Amino acid sequence: MKKREYEIIVVGASNAGGMAAAAAAEKGAKVLVIDKMGSAGYLYRETIAAIHSKAQKKAGVEIDRNELVNFLSTFNQGNVDQRLLNTWADNSSEMVDWLDEQVLRPHGAYIKATPDAYYETERNHAFPTGNEATAPDGKYWQMGYGNWVIAKAEELGAEFAWHTKLEKLVVEHGRVTGVIAKNMKTQEPLAIKATKAVILCTGGYGSNQALMAKWNPLGLKTNVYTDSQRDDGSGITAAMAIGAAKDEEPASIVFNRGAVPVGTNAEDFYEVDLTPPDDPGYLWLGSYPMLKVNLNGERFFNESAPYQFQMTAASKQPGYLSAMIWTEDTMSDENLKQYHTLGCSRLGFPGIFTGEEARKEVNDRLKEGLVQKADSIDELAKKLGLPANNLNKTVERYNEMVASGSDTDFGKESYRLEPVAKPPYYGAIIGGRLLATLDGLRVNLQMQVINQQGNVIPGLYAAGNCSGGFFWGIYPDHVPGLTASHALTFGRLAGKYAAE
Ligand SMILES: Cc1cc2nc3c(=O)[nH]c(=O)nc-3n(C[C@H](O)[C@H](O)[C@H](O)COP(=O)(O)OP(=O)(O)OC[C@H]3O[C@@H](n4cnc5c(N)ncnc54)[C@H](O)[C@@H]3O)c2cc1C
Repeated sequence: MKKREYEIIVVGASNAGGMAAAAAAEKGAKVLVIDKMGSAGYLYRETIAAIHSKAQKKAGVEIDRNELVNFLSTFNQGNVDQRLLNTWADNSSEMVDWLDEQVLRPHGAYIKATPDAYYETERNHAFPTGNEATAPDGKYWQMGYGNWVIAKAEELGAEFAWHTKLEKLVVEHGRVTGVIAKNMKTQEPLAIKATKAVILCTGGYGSNQALMAKWNPLGLKTNVYTDSQRDDGSGITAAMAIGAAKDEEPASIVFNRGAVPVGTNAEDFYEVDLTPPDDPGYLWLGSYPMLKVNLNGERFFNESAPYQFQMTAASKQPGYLSAMIWTEDTMSDENLKQYHTLGCSRLGFPGIFTGEEARKEVNDRLKEGLVQKADSIDELAKKLGLPANNLNKTVERYNEMVASGSDTDFGKESYRLEPVAKPPYYGAIIGGRLLATLDGLRVNLQMQVINQQGNVIPGLYAAGNCSGGFFWGIYPDHVPGLTASHALTFGRLAGKYAAE
């Protein structure tokens, strides 16, 4: 860091922070970004929601803005600020177009729309909102375009101070005028002034078990891993310490892919995990709507639903976990094709595991003891610690409905009914993988942080997962890419507004 005084300090260099920094620097502001870690590039996500980006228009994607906003409000039972949803809807395409033109294309990469994301069934109403950041070779995954966003912000004049953690916000005469930070390498405290604004982009609190226990106690029970190991909630608590208001109820994005050892007590098991390749327990197949039962061996919901429904349904079952049951035959290319999933739940492109990929993953987890294989349902039940009598009854009933082509118990689409009739049988005990918490600081439509009375805290902005009012309860994954887009769009808006 060259100086100790800037116009704008952005805290956090990931999706929201990188965009806020670039947008503020574009407006000519002197910007410093601090991040407690040494890099943030890999945290920028590939699936990004928007309404009518240029790539979507070119691909002929049409989304009715009010239909989508009303869908989201209904999904959240009205527990969101619908004006924030409108703000996102009206600004998401400008953000995606900027990313495409200013960041990706100079590197030969580009945004690709996903018109195939639309589908509608009993419990699934999906919108083709996804814009995929696509590498020059046409591949989607792990391209790390985030480093290009950071480089773009630097090119526009923003400075980045890594290993620098926000400890406290400085308030003078009722206005936020800077931060007290700590150099994480030397432990040296630093006072840095912000003459215009501090923008918090510090993400959620999923790795902070004390905050999880306080703000999302059921999430602590139903999740067995968290993939957001940096998210300690420190930006949220720093703002609350100076009177900021926070969402009163939890929101989160959770994958149904957390395989755990048989006998795990979900209430005590919460591993703050690392993202791949150090990813214990990751069972991609878990997001497929195969037969799932509770720890009593009974079926308890329609598995063909948004992925987080598995954990909310399991939260009403003993032990908070569920078991997935399938067979060797299930893992054929032909069968897996029907399990099309969306957005960040997709498995590459076109979004479905091949039989070979599925078998490889299952064999790897088998060696680790996280998948069980058996020649009979009795043996599988024993290996999974489930009552054999109940599991046999459930499988028998399920197979009858598969044969009749109609799931009269829970209404799963007939094309997703696969028999569990021929050995070898497989099973795994599954809990949630918390990708991020989504409840945060209350903000107005300019991303200014507000207090309990709804008054702006002058000089303080927030964007991304440390900000709230946008999500409630579970994540609407049928609007693919919404959390990354929420962070990127509102980060960009926060940067613009703070620089004005
Ligand atoms: C495996 C995985 C895949 C995902 N895929 C998708 C996807 O395809 N599409 C999608 O929409 N969403 C996806 N998500 C969710 C998405 O990653 C998050 O919603 C997004 O990262 C939020 O961005 P953010 O900028 O708000 O916060 P974060 O990305 O969490 O970044 C916060 C930053 O702040 C820094 N920080 C925190 N506290 C401090 C402090 N006190 N001082 C200084 N710095 C601090 C952190 O080091 C970090 O760099 C995925 C999540 C995971 C885990």
